[in-house]
Amino acid sequence: MRILVHVCCAHCLGKLLAGLADGPEAYEPVLYWDNPNIHPLIEYRRRLKAVKMLAERAALPLIAEEGYGLVDFCRAVHGREEAPLRCVQCYILRMGRAAAAADREGCSVYTSTLVTSCHQDHRLIREAGDMAGHASGVAFLYRDWRETQADPALTGMLYHQQYCGCIFSEYDRFKDTTTHLWPPPVVRASEGVKPLPRERR
Ligand code: SF4
Repeated sequence: MRILVHVCCAHCLGKLLAGLADGPEAYEPVLYWDNPNIHPLIEYRRRLKAVKMLAERAALPLIAEEGYGLVDFCRAVHGREEAPLRCVQCYILRMGRAAAAADREGCSVYTSTLVTSCHQDHRLIREAGDMAGHASGVAFLYRDWRETQADPALTGMLYHQQYCGCIFSEYDRFKDTTTHLWPPPVVRASEGVKPLPRERR
């Protein structure tokens, strides 16, 4: 049976494919990329490129909605910018599009790589997935694949993001650190600049 797989990033896709392969059902995955929540544009392109490379390695079909969805995302979360309220809207937006795509592609069931992540709210994802599936006449497959390990042959050397996706999550991730600032400690040392103690970077 064909299953439409909403893909948020390459590494979560690797885990989901391993989980599907271990399950009792013989699914044929159709990959679907539509993530208006990923910002800024260069980050969006890095993640999409990694997903394309994994799809090629796994020889799986990929439908990619490549429009940069910043405006759609901002409209969806306007007035609910704090987590987890914005995440509810983010899940609803993405699951709604994935369920509609599943229906268009003739897949009676769909799922999302979000259910492989330890950093996501599984109850909210499941509710959004079920609601969107009901609206589009397709079933949402939920499995807890948080502990599943991806095949390194599929995910090796692919870009791995440092934050969830939206510009708010980027702020949450980096607001208390300066480790990403340039130049890195090794360059400062070669220039005779004393590196800061680790805890102050
Ligand atoms: S933190 Fe992640 S799930 Fe929540 S709104 Fe941002 S991108 Fe979406």
